[in-house]
Amino acid sequence: MNGGGLVISLDFELKWGVHDVFRYGRYNKNLYGVRKALPKILALFEQYHIHATWATVGLLFAESKAEMAHYLRGIPVKYEDMRYAAYTQLAKVGENEQEDLLHFGRSLVEEIKRTPYQEIASHTFSHFYCLEKGQTKADFCADLYATKTITDGYIAPMKSITFPRNQVNKDYFQACLEAGYICYRGPTNHALYNTSKGRWLGAKKWLDSYFNLTGHHLVTFKDMQMAPLIDIRSSAFLRPYCSPLRVFEGLKIKRIKEGMLEAAKAQAFYHIWWHPHNFGKHIDKNLAILEELLRYFQELRSHYSFESYSMYEVAKLCLHPERGISNDF
Ligand SMILES: [Zn+2]
Repeated sequence: MNGGGLVISLDFELKWGVHDVFRYGRYNKNLYGVRKALPKILALFEQYHIHATWATVGLLFAESKAEMAHYLRGIPVKYEDMRYAAYTQLAKVGENEQEDLLHFGRSLVEEIKRTPYQEIASHTFSHFYCLEKGQTKADFCADLYATKTITDGYIAPMKSITFPRNQVNKDYFQACLEAGYICYRGPTNHALYNTSKGRWLGAKKWLDSYFNLTGHHLVTFKDMQMAPLIDIRSSAFLRPYCSPLRVFEGLKIKRIKEGMLEAAKAQAFYHIWWHPHNFGKHIDKNLAILEELLRYFQELRSHYSFESYSMYEVAKLCLHPERGISNDF
């Protein structure tokens, strides 16, 4: 019998995930900080035997600007708002990772690959927005194809996908399935999390990270039975350390610990996610929070049969509970 567990996923994207939001280098400190934070996150995962999913933007597998341009030519997506299109950023991209630490990430992918029990998954190739006006299913399929081609032979075929800005378009699920994916991370199961629009909703989501407004959002196999892709939905976003509001940090940690405890007792899953760049500032503070959560997880693991899982491992258990986990990545 499966006893549930902690699921962790990270959306690894560097500048490709934020170029339309932060201009004039306003977020660069966080992005440069990923170079320091990511290896330390991996070290903690190794120390605490954590299995995690790294949903990686396909462009981060590229080794040169020419390679990026080659793949992006195959995805000529015409968003109504062209700020979203990755290829509009090419002029700002350096020749390779030595020159440009914000748009390239192959050496970091290598570190993830070297760490045991880490799943490398997709966050689309070009940080593709599946619900924005102007993009089409053909564009999305071209984006899927680019990821498949650039990763072919380098890593195991990808099985899990997380959608940029959590824009889940069910019309694209069949294409994902045909490309080999079996699961995705759906948004937290509450009306508050079904849309990313609106300042008031944003404030409520923020409050929900500190005070239990919407429940613990445990994930059970029953929730996951959604053909054709399995929804390993999110329970909580791990917000970065916030210096002006540091008095609330304890509440945030407590809220997540309570969710983990409820999941352990109910033999359910608790799925937390964030971006490595969220840890790019106040790195030590954020790592200390992560370690506190992992230490608590360790306690739960010894008191309940509460384990650590990647998204793909949960999907495999959902499909074939009798087989358990096989380590095939
Ligand atoms: Zn993203």
